[in-house]
Amino acid sequence: MIRIGQAGIPLSCKGRTNKDGIVYTHKSLDLNAIEIQFVRGLYVLSDEEALFIKDYASTNDIEIHVHAPYYLNLAGDREEITMSYEKIMKSALMANNIGSKTLIIHPGYYGEYNPKKTAKLITKNAKKIISMFKKDKLKVRLAMETMGKQKVFGSLDEIIDVCTHVKEVIPVLDLGHIHARGNGSIQEREDFEAIFDKLKPLRLRHFLIHITGVLYENGNELYHVPIKKGDMPIAPLIDVILDRNLNVTLISESPLLEHDAVYIRLQVEKAIMKRTGKETAYYKDLSEVIKK
Ligand SMILES: [Zn+2]
Repeated sequence: MIRIGQAGIPLSCKGRTNKDGIVYTHKSLDLNAIEIQFVRGLYVLSDEEALFIKDYASTNDIEIHVHAPYYLNLAGDREEITMSYEKIMKSALMANNIGSKTLIIHPGYYGEYNPKKTAKLITKNAKKIISMFKKDKLKVRLAMETMGKQKVFGSLDEIIDVCTHVKEVIPVLDLGHIHARGNGSIQEREDFEAIFDKLKPLRLRHFLIHITGVLYENGNELYHVPIKKGDMPIAPLIDVILDRNLNVTLISESPLLEHDAVYIRLQVEKAIMKRTGKETAYYKDLSEVIKK
């Protein structure tokens, strides 16, 4: 299955609440995923809005993800770690209330530690968070994103390492970040295959994938740009997804948000048409292109 959506309330959506955003994503865009952003400060959802979102998503088969506030540091000093726990737990509770599948976090910074020590700290703190999730009976999964800057913990290998040690944590493949961190490392089909090959030992049944164009310099992300303005191709990604029958959610994080989500959708449908030889395709129907 391929789900498609964007990170945040669509730009073309008049109403500016998350409730408006999810309705618009379904009704106007006919997309089936959304990543709700709790990224600036701590977003507060009213109980009424939370309940609406949860019901609407389940009735209309929309998959929800939630992005926690950006500034967290699970490898920081005691104060930073306490602050991170608090933000994560508050966001996780809200994410859980709206039926979100994941709570996405940025793990932290190396600071004065070497990468190995940083990984140890982040793993230890991720374990603690998981035990807090369990204690509060939260169903939402903790998801750790691959990061696009050298000073930030979160290369693909590092995220896989944490997920290997804490089996409840799942990776978020931010392809723009992986591409930027590798200074333009994703160029062709083999590069996408290598990513999914690396993930095999985790035995994931679903992949949450962020897609955007990105400008970078010396292995550091500078900023996001529209997919077509970036130099990471997405057609080979879609081919790998279809060939391997991967269960994915593709979230556009481009500055064009839903416009690029729709662009991704068109690319998926183009790939389906190429395989079926037909003149129409619908991204929700992969029955003719997936090997059973
Ligand atoms: Zn992120």
